Amino acid sequence: MTEDLKEFDKLVREKKISEVDKMLEESKKLTEKIPDLKERHEKVVIARGNVVEASIKIEIAFDELITKTGGEDLVMNPEKKEFHLITGVKRENELGGLGFKSKVDIIRKIMKKVDDEFIYTGYLQSKEWEKKNKDFIDHFKKCNKCGNTEQLNSHHIRYENFGNENIKDVEVLCWCCGLGRKQEPIELINQPEPSLLKDLEKFVALRDIFAHVPVSWFAKELEFDENPRYNHFFKLDQKWRSVPLALNEFMNLQKEILDLILAYIKSIVLKRELLKIFFKY
Ligand SMILES: [Zn+2]
Repeated sequence: MTEDLKEFDKLVREKKISEVDKMLEESKKLTEKIPDLKERHEKVVIARGNVVEASIKIEIAFDELITKTGGEDLVMNPEKKEFHLITGVKRENELGGLGFKSKVDIIRKIMKKVDDEFIYTGYLQSKEWEKKNKDFIDHFKKCNKCGNTEQLNSHHIRYENFGNENIKDVEVLCWCCGLGRKQEPIELINQPEPSLLKDLEKFVALRDIFAHVPVSWFAKELEFDENPRYNHFFKLDQKWRSVPLALNEFMNLQKEILDLILAYIKSIVLKRELLKIFFKY
């Protein structure tokens, strides 16, 4: 022991600064009072491990979607002078700098876009739109670009009043001008969020609970700590204080999200095949 340490040791003994040994001893006495501590501790460790494992699976699926889909369709690659049927939102080398939450945000945008496109296509085939289309054609009477009066169709130029359009929201074009028209990206701000987005929000919240909130070993059942400093983790659902319940919900969400991602990938593959046929690619 160096002189300095000796001095410190003396100080500690005299002034009783360090109570570490005493604290350890007391906490040992305390833990002895907790029933089934070992079993419960093991359960929590396994639960946390499962949450991490399930999160990794979801993250891998997200990485796939972010790098291979969600970008634009039919984009020309100037270097290779060829069409990309569908591009990713990010390149693989950009993934490293993204945390889980930024990835979730990107996925939210991709899913909202898919949902909007689906709603939009359905709407264009509805009786409702059929009537509106006719009304707009009757109003404008000719093609907005070339003045042709045959084979007219209405096209959205903005989506703010989607489902409730007036003459400011559309333009009427003939078949030929309609073909060459570049469509505004579909963004339906007045539509409800797709259910997957709610699932993602819950998934991230539960993941955070397992990552940051300690377990209260003195609770009768397996429960997360009731310390008010952790309250914000449970603002979506107070029932998640129960570890088994939170784990169960988390695993169900993970399954649901993976299923939805699979359905999304199938739709992308289908779209790619259709584009291939269309462009004899
Ligand atoms: Zn025209």
